Amino acid sequence: MESEQGNLPGCGSTARSSSAEESVAKKAEETGGGKPRYEAINREQLCWRAVDVERLIGEEHAARAIWGFVGRLDLSGYDEEVRAVEGKAGRPGWEPRLLISLWVYAYSEGVGSARAIEQLCEWEPAYQWLTGATVVNAHTLSDFRVKHEKALKALFVQVLGLLSADGLIVLERVMQDGTKIRAKAAQDSFRRKERVEQALKQAAEQVAGVEAMSEEETSRRISKARSRAQRERQQRLEQALEEFEKLAEEGGGKDKENRRVSTSDPQARIMKQADGGFAPSYNVQINTDAANAVVVAVGVVQAGNDFEQLEPGVDRVEQNLGKTPDQVVTDGGFVSRDNIVGMKERGVDFIGPCGDEAGKGKSSYEGRGVSAQYHSSQFVYDEATDSYRCPQGKILFYEGKEQRHTQVSYRYRAQRSDCQGCPVKSQCCPGNRVTGRSVHRSEEIAEVAEFRQRMQSEQAREIYRQRAQVAETPNLWIKAKFGLRQFSVRGWSKVGMEALWACLTYNIRVWIRLRWRQPAEVATVPA
Ligand code: SF4
Repeated sequence: MESEQGNLPGCGSTARSSSAEESVAKKAEETGGGKPRYEAINREQLCWRAVDVERLIGEEHAARAIWGFVGRLDLSGYDEEVRAVEGKAGRPGWEPRLLISLWVYAYSEGVGSARAIEQLCEWEPAYQWLTGATVVNAHTLSDFRVKHEKALKALFVQVLGLLSADGLIVLERVMQDGTKIRAKAAQDSFRRKERVEQALKQAAEQVAGVEAMSEEETSRRISKARSRAQRERQQRLEQALEEFEKLAEEGGGKDKENRRVSTSDPQARIMKQADGGFAPSYNVQINTDAANAVVVAVGVVQAGNDFEQLEPGVDRVEQNLGKTPDQVVTDGGFVSRDNIVGMKERGVDFIGPCGDEAGKGKSSYEGRGVSAQYHSSQFVYDEATDSYRCPQGKILFYEGKEQRHTQVSYRYRAQRSDCQGCPVKSQCCPGNRVTGRSVHRSEEIAEVAEFRQRMQSEQAREIYRQRAQVAETPNLWIKAKFGLRQFSVRGWSKVGMEALWACLTYNIRVWIRLRWRQPAEVATVPA
């Protein structure tokens, strides 16, 4: 080590230098006095090289497995839009098997850009093996990814059929989970309706201006590119105005002033993220079969909550596999009265955590400074008059009802005059300045009571404990390994297709792991 450092200019001491010189002299003596000769590196040269394409990758390479698997699929759904046909003029197109294999392989390696794939085709052995050492251009790849929605959905179902035939899907237990994936839109791209209308007016003028440009002013190619960019912007702004209408329908007359829509991706919505922040996103709902963690359904929704997503998720599983899962397991975000009843009506065993209403009540009393003698339990309910009597003997009359996740909650309230003059008000309702004290009577319907009781059992708790490992496995793969933390396309439909590509890739990787590399019977969740 010392002698190596001593050879570096300016690094060695005099003693080291003389030692190094001695060493060189000794070496020269051994080699007959000449200087050492090294191979010159010439980066200026052009060279031809023979490439054995078949041997670019090993026998066990994942690209071979993907190519083989895709070769088992019926891809005739993609033929409808192929313009180059035998017997007619025109350049032959790329076969769907190749384009599908390229995208699946690229996603599995964390590459989600058509341009990056085009570059990789030029030198990366697996891409070269897939293409036969040719280059597929980015436009072709980009269009193929988002222009065949029907064929892609059919492909996903076909893959499920093959995995099912291989014994990898049993539908005894299916976990459903939602994950937020960021949209291709910046947070500051959200605008009020008036701003969008102004921007649309400007965009329409610009489009008209570009179209009116003479060919002398700019080359035909540049003119086309500019015109296309302006038209796409105009379309996005028109779509943004449509989204305002949709938001108005969803939200009624509420919060009209604060409605904003993204001008980059009008169909994206601001959603709460796992880290607590907010960002323009889509909610990707994934149903995963517990036997081997195969994704059996995927859907993309604009709603940030999961309460309304369980029934559509089970519908998608039915559509894809022609069978309803025996059991669905979710986290607390899906547990609602409607879902409990809905799953029971469909004959699906629903497992999910039940909220601890008692615990919530205690902490909220503590937060409001209510003494234990004045908790709701100290108020006496009279069924005959449908009212409560407080510890001071005052009557609380029925005021209204609220639908909570698993319960209907009936609200009763004391007269303002009774409470404001009450000697124990500071212990009973210290925060009430203008109203009387209220209490709630919750009623659980039979289905919810039965669900709550069932979830107390050790068996249900054990099943629930498996949820995170199974449900979060595809989420982790898609985000961490495939790198899909943000969509690379815009619009609900295209985003849905990108989510489908990612899940298709994930399922093929499960097959590679459990059947291609381990043909014997294996039934384990991928790590
Ligand atoms: S504050 Fe109102 S509800 Fe509470 S004890 Fe007094 S009268 Fe009854």
